[in-house]
Amino acid sequence: MVLRIIKAMKSRITGNLASLRQRIQQAEQRYQRLPGSVQLLAVSKTRPTADILTAAACGQRHFGENYVQEAVTKITSLAEQNLIWHLIGPIQSNKTRLIATHFHWVHSVDRPKIARRLSEQRPSHLPPLNICLQINISREASKSGLSLSGLHGAARQIAGLPNLRLRGLMAIPQRHTCFEQQRIPFHRLRQALRSLNDEGMELDTLSMGMSADVEAAIAEGATMVRIGTDIFGPRD
Ligand SMILES: *Cc1c(COP(=O)(O)O)cnc(C)c1O
Repeated sequence: MVLRIIKAMKSRITGNLASLRQRIQQAEQRYQRLPGSVQLLAVSKTRPTADILTAAACGQRHFGENYVQEAVTKITSLAEQNLIWHLIGPIQSNKTRLIATHFHWVHSVDRPKIARRLSEQRPSHLPPLNICLQINISREASKSGLSLSGLHGAARQIAGLPNLRLRGLMAIPQRHTCFEQQRIPFHRLRQALRSLNDEGMELDTLSMGMSADVEAAIAEGATMVRIGTDIFGPRD
């Protein structure tokens, strides 16, 4: 009985991943994006390691987590899988050492102070930590992130830190069901990335798009989409 349930969950994740990859490919084609230019980040917060192993067995390499302690337990127990771990949740300054030690990417940096701590605490035997700055693109009080007006100053400070590599921008826009409405904040994020690159930065990452708005994000240039529900099912 239990075995049968485990098998059914495995094949559900496998099937979801296959159809999601197809959705991403079709969106790449439809919006004249290069094939393979959109990377899939599987958001595995609250999911057991067995689900992550199932996705990894289907070739999924990049995983996103929100809660540092939960993530570190998974990262440690799955060390032999050589997966690439992304932190996408809010950051408390007392967690920066754990983050700098265990993650490959951090998408949710929203102030220079956090970036300085991550740079100082990045172990010297590891390559630079990849960083995206989180932008509060829909200016919602409930969401963290830099404002667009504060972005240039913060980016300049963070780009100079020795043990980080500033890669791009991340946002979680306000929910809309209308495709054209979904595109607007993604478009603003893309313009913000372009304006930083016009200043001489070499940023290559737009982390945007979740289960409900992945096509709109790809239409506007997403290079990394963060998907949980459409891979692993609804969270409790
Ligand atoms: C949970 C989460 C996701 C995934 O959301 P789904 O709707 O489950 O695809 C993506 N990005 C962030 C920052 C999240 O916290």
